[in-house]
Amino acid sequence: MIPIEEARAYVMDRCVPQAAVETNVADALGLVTAVDVTATESLPPFANTAMDGFAVRSADLGTIPVQLEVVETIAAGHSPVQSVGPGQASRIMTGAPIPDGADAIVMVEKTSIDGETVTIEAQVERGNHIRPAGDDVSKGDLVFPIGTRLTAGHLGVLCSLGLQEIQTYPRLRVGVMSTGDELVDDGGHLEPGQIRDSNRRTLLSLLSGDAFMPVDLGLIADDEQAIEEALTQGAHDCDAVITSGGVSMGDFDYVKKVLDRIGDMRWMQIAIKPAKPLAFGTISGTPIFGLPGNPVSSMVSYELFARSGLRSMMGFKEPIRPAIKGIAGEALGRRTDGKIHYARVIAEHENGATVVYPVSGQGSHMLASMARSNALAVLPDGEGCEAGEQLDVLLLN
Ligand code: AMP
Ligand code: MG
Repeated sequence: MIPIEEARAYVMDRCVPQAAVETNVADALGLVTAVDVTATESLPPFANTAMDGFAVRSADLGTIPVQLEVVETIAAGHSPVQSVGPGQASRIMTGAPIPDGADAIVMVEKTSIDGETVTIEAQVERGNHIRPAGDDVSKGDLVFPIGTRLTAGHLGVLCSLGLQEIQTYPRLRVGVMSTGDELVDDGGHLEPGQIRDSNRRTLLSLLSGDAFMPVDLGLIADDEQAIEEALTQGAHDCDAVITSGGVSMGDFDYVKKVLDRIGDMRWMQIAIKPAKPLAFGTISGTPIFGLPGNPVSSMVSYELFARSGLRSMMGFKEPIRPAIKGIAGEALGRRTDGKIHYARVIAEHENGATVVYPVSGQGSHMLASMARSNALAVLPDGEGCEAGEQLDVLLLN
């Protein structure tokens, strides 16, 4: 067995960022910027009002109430025509530009209007409720540095700045195939010995959740030629391929046999539980992750190796999920076996701390318990930990 650090270093060394591409902002959610984004415009582009109300000269409000002549109404999207002179005001709507002469806004709730005259019932400071030009972003500012993962908010800012295209690392196309003669996926009657394919749906969904582009390569029988064809095609069509099953020591583990022949693979037995076996290598330069078949093992292996490697290929600066410190809400027992254990737990926030509780059913075939958990507790080799002890936690989402 090798330490997880060695396995991860081997994977990460071979998962390098793809060349940057020009991406439409509409397609950029979850991608990583490949350039510094600099503002070519200011935000807001002009001084405007944060409130519906009246644009006034603050010096006119020395004593209140005061009556002012209303010279016009300014709607958002329209330019003021009149300037505001002494004793005057303009009715103004949120987002509309501030008229010349005015230096403050009085919110409509503090006014009463009668024909062409408004009575102002509150004194306000100069600049009240005015959002100056460039308040949020000034032209020339570095808005987001290279390596920023684009969230909904970032995309909104790009739109605010009028940017329709941006240089990003390309969204990775990641193929997923299941292998095994026992697997069916048609929802029909199960023949003796058959089970339903769950890994493919799980892995495709994990990929979507992590902003990769999942590609379904199907369910492949334990047949050497079928596996070779599927792998060759997948490696050609995709930026990376994930297989599950067929990488253990079984007699019909053809994935291993085929990858040995057509790929440049390393077979690893990693000192972790679950997910001890991992095949990783390349076919014609395309990274291939041969994950174990047991459903929980395949998910944990995805989390620890595939997700990190793929995120590195997609330009993430911190591709590996950092552990946070949590507290065991109950004892998490285990036996000494030379491995790090990743225990399925439910993590909850209690009094400012992350407290974790084990879920029942820690077998690597027990997918339902994985689905019920939201985190993995990292238990170093040894006898586990007592309730109240601190431990590392990987929050899955
Ligand atoms: P293998 O690595 O092929 O020996 O598979 C290990 C275990 O995982 C066996 O019990 C398989 O039936 C099961 N398994 C393999 N692939 C899948 C899959 N796609 N969905 C659900 N179970 C699977
Ligand atoms: Mg199998």
